[in-house]
Amino acid sequence: MTARIIDGAAVAKKLRQDIAAEVAAKKLTPGLAVVLVGEDPASQVYVRNKGRAAEETGMKSWTHRMPVETTQDQLLAMVNQLNNDPDVHGILVQLPLPKQIDSQIIIAAIDPAKDVDGFHPVNAGRLNLSLPCFVPCTPQGSMILIREVEQNLAGKKAVVLGRSNIVGKPVAQLLLQADCTVTITHSRTKNLPEECRAADILVAAIGKPAFVKGDWVKPGAIVIDVGINRIDDTANPGKSKLVGDVDFAAASVHAGAITPVPGGVGPMTIACLLKNTMQSAAMKAGVA
Ligand code: NDP
Repeated sequence: MTARIIDGAAVAKKLRQDIAAEVAAKKLTPGLAVVLVGEDPASQVYVRNKGRAAEETGMKSWTHRMPVETTQDQLLAMVNQLNNDPDVHGILVQLPLPKQIDSQIIIAAIDPAKDVDGFHPVNAGRLNLSLPCFVPCTPQGSMILIREVEQNLAGKKAVVLGRSNIVGKPVAQLLLQADCTVTITHSRTKNLPEECRAADILVAAIGKPAFVKGDWVKPGAIVIDVGINRIDDTANPGKSKLVGDVDFAAASVHAGAITPVPGGVGPMTIACLLKNTMQSAAMKAGVA
């Protein structure tokens, strides 16, 4: 078997076009404010891509760059200013933050109605209660890609690798809401390969390059590789490349469908951020 490759870039492009059409039809001007503290190179790239994508869909976007020595109080003041700005519908504080800043305190200070990342305790709690909320972008994008392959997920066995607040837990919650039978695994899980082999849907979000081996994948399974890992490119000495948490070539032999890295979940994360920002603006305008 050779897996169908789920083209996240194409699905994300279509989603961005749909968002742009809805923004225009509803005469919205959604505003996304991104706060970047420090000079982390990966974060710089993410922030630049988010800003560009927002503008392409008819949104306003602002990037607030703050120095690496920014204090928690200074960042709280910035968040407060954005909470009170009527042109701002979505606030994203790029993680990770420098160590002098407690990210949970910052996330909790964001107005939940502008928390387009869906990380605020109010949105996380509402997700767990299956109430309307901002759904975190990467888990939301992962679900859209799963549904590209299979609409009816009821009764499927889903295994999630990783239990982080931003990926593992919310994606597990969404799979549960889709009536899957869900197992969440982590670094203390015993017999991880065995757990994975039972999965009709396998979502890997652990941050370890090519960790999931080909023979961990059940024949015909849907494999969603969330991992983004930069490693040395042995074919091009001195260069690096991005790989996922799944051994793509080996897993493709067994899987029914699989997301590549890059070009899988990554583009969906940004598209879902724009979707949440549009939703925030539409709610404020009373046209949601
Ligand atoms: P975290 O580091 O917060 O969480 C990693 C999780 O993996 C933890 O729950 C950890 O378990 C588990 N884990 C680590 N090692 C093992 C192991 N050997 N066996 C089983 N489980 C293990 O990572 P994130 O959730 O933030 O991110 C995961 C990956 O997804 C990263 O590569 C990140 O770059 C990528 N990512 C991609 C995004 C995208 O847009 N595509 C967005 C966000 C993240 P424990 O809890 O026990 O420590």
